[in-house]
Amino acid sequence: MSDSKKKKAKAKRAPRRHERRFLAQSAHSKTLVRVLAALGAAAMGAGSWAHFYGQVFADDEKKAIPVYIVAAGAVLAGVAIWLGTTTEPAIRVGDPGVAVERGDLRRMPWNAISQITWQEGTLSLVVMGRDESGKELTVKVPLNGHAEAVGWIVDEARRRIPKVVDIDDAVVEKLPSAGEHAGQKIDLEALQAVGKKCSASGKTISYEPDARICSRCERVYHKASVPKKCKCGASLMHMRSKLADDDDATDDDAGDDDTSDERPSERKTSKRQRAAAEEEDVT
Ligand SMILES: [Zn+2]
Repeated sequence: MSDSKKKKAKAKRAPRRHERRFLAQSAHSKTLVRVLAALGAAAMGAGSWAHFYGQVFADDEKKAIPVYIVAAGAVLAGVAIWLGTTTEPAIRVGDPGVAVERGDLRRMPWNAISQITWQEGTLSLVVMGRDESGKELTVKVPLNGHAEAVGWIVDEARRRIPKVVDIDDAVVEKLPSAGEHAGQKIDLEALQAVGKKCSASGKTISYEPDARICSRCERVYHKASVPKKCKCGASLMHMRSKLADDDDATDDDAGDDDTSDERPSERKTSKRQRAAAEEEDVT
């Protein structure tokens, strides 16, 4: 196979990036919320009707009753709304890492997560690390309301960055699993490597095709300094060029879960995308 053909075939297989968005579920029973809301609405309707049309409440003594019914209905409806909604932000889990939607989107790439623990007292998953701008960030994901997100974070983290997952196996077994149909699946653009620093040499990537990206943790490397193993533990042998290594670089050495993710950076990147990446980096 000629070199250009090989490149073409690889570009076609370039992985797409995805993530899942999880909206917080109310911790309270859905049935309870519905019953309260229905009773509240019914009471408000009945009270209003009685106030304006009800003959039974015509005399002075009973005149006030419809008003009380309306008030009680309003209270019930209010309680239903309060129980039915939650203040927990939406959580995203996927190729770019773990993100929390609190007003704006703050994302922790897998390679910037330093520790994932389980807090038994609050039944929450605690994800600690740094966001994309390097600021410290701790995301607490409660099982109550975010069961699906907890399942996905634990599952992905154990596969991508097993070294920083500090949770007992006994606890992991009890946690929900990552359901295939959980959350809302979102397609993402390829990672923009231009402007990022090589994780091995510190050299800034100025030309997209020079970048090699670890498919597990999305660490970026310059093609000339790709190590044999990424800091996350993934084998990078299949990404190493002759520049970085001239003795034992072979494609057969790639780890089994890395074989489908070859050289994502070999996609053609438009100038516009590159400019956008640079812009993002400034902010
Ligand atoms: Zn990695």
